[in-house]
Amino acid sequence: MKINSARLEQYFEAMSLIGKIGETGTCRPAHTELEKQGFEIAGSWMKEAGMTVRIDNFGNLIGRLEGKNPDLPVLMMGSHLDSQPYGGRFDGVAGVLCAIEVVKTLHENGIVPERSIEVISFADEEGWRFNKGLFGSRGILGKLEEGELERADAAGITRGQALVAFGCDITKFKDSEYQPGSIFCFLELHIEQGPILDLANKPIGVVSGISGPLWWTVKLKGMAGHTGSVPMPIRKDALVGAAEIIVAVNEIANQVPGNPTVGTVGTLNIFPASRNIIPEEVTFTVDLRDIDLERRNRYEKQLRDRIEFICAKHKLTYEISEDTKSDPRYCADWIKEIIHAECQKLQLDEIELMSGPFHDALALSYVCDYGMIFVRCKDGISHNPLEYASYEDLAIGANVLLGTVQQILNR
Ligand SMILES: [Zn+2]
Repeated sequence: MKINSARLEQYFEAMSLIGKIGETGTCRPAHTELEKQGFEIAGSWMKEAGMTVRIDNFGNLIGRLEGKNPDLPVLMMGSHLDSQPYGGRFDGVAGVLCAIEVVKTLHENGIVPERSIEVISFADEEGWRFNKGLFGSRGILGKLEEGELERADAAGITRGQALVAFGCDITKFKDSEYQPGSIFCFLELHIEQGPILDLANKPIGVVSGISGPLWWTVKLKGMAGHTGSVPMPIRKDALVGAAEIIVAVNEIANQVPGNPTVGTVGTLNIFPASRNIIPEEVTFTVDLRDIDLERRNRYEKQLRDRIEFICAKHKLTYEISEDTKSDPRYCADWIKEIIHAECQKLQLDEIELMSGPFHDALALSYVCDYGMIFVRCKDGISHNPLEYASYEDLAIGANVLLGTVQQILNR
């Protein structure tokens, strides 16, 4: 049994017109009329694939293919149809459309599985509109935090208002939550959003897990003074300290060949930011991610030691505040084995790799086993209208997903 690659291509072409920007870009923000249009067309394909379709109170689109035994925990798969404001046409979309095509193929072949299958487009995976992502996937698991509905977008519209306008009943979130044990496993196909598969010249990768991010805000304090008169040896220049720490983050993350760790300083605020005042205070963020928690902990210790040393050298004081510290979340071995076996049937010579970015699977990983399939994207470009995955590669990914679903249904 194989998916219909021409139909899959049509799904992508049709979806790319909704929120299209420029030649190849997409802007389809969460909980908007554009996302609703995306849901309507995806929902119509779900119906054609034999699924019943609903939009829940978190703004998730859910298609369900009823199994022979509807009481069994569901096999869930999906991703998201919302996009970055200046995004591409494959991020998230690939996981939803390939999952619909898989169910359509099963349905066409007259297969009625024992357990039900659900395909979900999770609401607001991207998180840029209200500065907090994975909304729909956290929502169904009862993991929203205090104040999330009061978060406002750039136009002053709150999440709660946007959901109500979308047609959601925000007083009835409980009705849309999944009970513990009701999800058997979760599968997500996604474009890699990095260059590893492209460099290795392979269409498909089996994901080993999602990296755990450690996010800090670091503040260094020195002393301001006249840049023309304060002699070098007695300065307390916070920016010189920050510069050395930025290099240290880069060196620490680069220790292992193959670079399984990534470390980034992405922001820098200098006070008072005058060309003739020695920088007194510098604030910057650190983002350190690794799939290996023990190694990340070791690197964290190294970085703390380096910061201590560098600040002592430049007579600075420092404060580190921890913004996020998540453990890496590993894919289930048994699902990885199935995905590998399906890749081998197609003679793909696949590799295993970790995911640096988060995905909805991260939220699901706390309640069920999960597996992810990565599809090669050109030059690793994503969150950019230039994002590109070929229809050939996407069809291969959908076939791997189809085989994986069949194996799981046979268990
Ligand atoms: Zn995504």
